[in-house]
Amino acid sequence: MNYDLPYCGLWQSGFEKKAVPVTPDYPELKTLIQSMFDTMYDSAGVGLAAPQINFSIRLFVVDGEPFSDEEPTLVKFKKVFINPEMIDESGNKWKFNEGCLSIPGVREDVDRHSVVHLKYMDENFVEHTETFDGIAARIIQHEYDHLEGVLFTDRLSPLKRQLLKGKLNDISRGKVNVDYKMKFMSK
Ligand code: ZN
Repeated sequence: MNYDLPYCGLWQSGFEKKAVPVTPDYPELKTLIQSMFDTMYDSAGVGLAAPQINFSIRLFVVDGEPFSDEEPTLVKFKKVFINPEMIDESGNKWKFNEGCLSIPGVREDVDRHSVVHLKYMDENFVEHTETFDGIAARIIQHEYDHLEGVLFTDRLSPLKRQLLKGKLNDISRGKVNVDYKMKFMSK
């Protein structure tokens, strides 16, 4: 079942709002989660947050397997995060080249802390408190930001954003080649 395609994050006002918590009786949650994994794999992403497919709820899925050459532990980093709460971000800041299914064709180095400590529930609503580092932490930080209404481009320097302005405007009008199916305002 294909619930929805990734939305372009640059025009949709919903991307700026804070997503709301998910309740255990949320309708067809398991189907939604499966559909999010399908959408993520179809677009060759390593993470997808519900707001990216127009569900403004606190849920994201990840699978870090494509990065397992760099970090072997990521082979098993396939997870569902429901109602995550960032307890703490620590460690040195480091740059990692990020991209986003909602902003096709843009990749930029983003500075973030190396370690995250967070509380979340899995797909069975079992609570976990865990620490992640490296690329796993990075994927979580990026997806968590989507729940807070923040895109990775918001974290770039004003100069970098200025340089990207034309490109972002084009993307928001659908003037970009995307090798996965996506929803734009004008398409
Ligand atoms: Zn993203």
